[in-house]
Amino acid sequence: MEKILIIDDSLLQSARLKSIIDDKYDVTLVQTAEDGLRRATNEEFSLILLDVVMPEMDGFTLLKKLQEQIITQHVPVILITSLSDVAYEQRGLVLGAVDYIAKPFEPMIVKARVDTHIRLYRYRRQIEEQSMTDHLTGVANRHRYDRYRLEKWQEAARLKVPFSICMFDIDHFKIYNDTFGHPAGDKVIAAVAKTISAYLKRSTDFVARYGGEEFVALSIGDSASKMFEHLKKIRQAVEDLHIPHSPDISKWVTVSVGGVTVVPPPEKDYTFFLQLADTMLYDAKKHGRNRVVWTDGQLQQMHENK
Ligand code: GH3
Ligand code: MG
Ligand code: MG
Repeated sequence: MEKILIIDDSLLQSARLKSIIDDKYDVTLVQTAEDGLRRATNEEFSLILLDVVMPEMDGFTLLKKLQEQIITQHVPVILITSLSDVAYEQRGLVLGAVDYIAKPFEPMIVKARVDTHIRLYRYRRQIEEQSMTDHLTGVANRHRYDRYRLEKWQEAARLKVPFSICMFDIDHFKIYNDTFGHPAGDKVIAAVAKTISAYLKRSTDFVARYGGEEFVALSIGDSASKMFEHLKKIRQAVEDLHIPHSPDISKWVTVSVGGVTVVPPPEKDYTFFLQLADTMLYDAKKHGRNRVVWTDGQLQQMHENK
């Protein structure tokens, strides 16, 4: 059920409004703009119905604040105005409200407008979701990764917690394609993505397709040695899929893994550590593939003994 937030100082008005739409939606009522801002920031609403005239902070001020915050600016806002407030409607629409509802409420009009904006919002989210997803594997695409990585890096820096960047690359994949064909190769890429995702599914984990047969994963919270152990399991899980490789290369399809775990230091940026993770991947390839090479960002390097 989509969630709708009604912000109105008059409990009588908002209860009426709620009764018109709450057969289809999960409706929350708050009586002040401050409460509205807090709820909208901390929860995911698909629509906000906002009264213009309220004591203390009014609807316009709140609308501006909602528009300024990244996490609330995409939520559509419908203004609630009185019939006499034509000038208000104009100002609200200019400020970015998607529509307005006039008091006294006409139930059919309210329902129709709310339904329309919920539908539009759902549609937009769907499009956004698709544009951020890699179609072959269903994991995040490069575009989402680019958006996500700096945000999470900064979050880890602020919280002073370990941040891991992990690179995966399927071994000898060109030969796989040459032997079994591109469509078979696509299936392998999807199977590897699924395996990696199955092991990195906490809310603090993130997996994306980085390029052709390469993946990148980010994880917050665990130490370098813990990540190293976990990544060895993932590498093994890919091998245990038992996807036959070209016989003169290896028995099964495998991946090489390289990565780094650091508490983000003020003097070095994300790109530096991404390159370091890439160097670890290169080392894993150089030392025979199908292995994990990890570093804690200092001099220590962990190699999987094989
Ligand atoms: P290495 O072990 O050093 O990683 O060798 P490799 O052959 O995997 O490395 P290389 O980067 O030379 O080749 C990657 C190959 O991945 C090239 C391309 O044929 C294949 N590839 C890239 N994207 C796709 C894709 O979307 N589908 C398929 N089937 N193959 C892809
Ligand atoms: Mg590659
Ligand atoms: Mg490869």
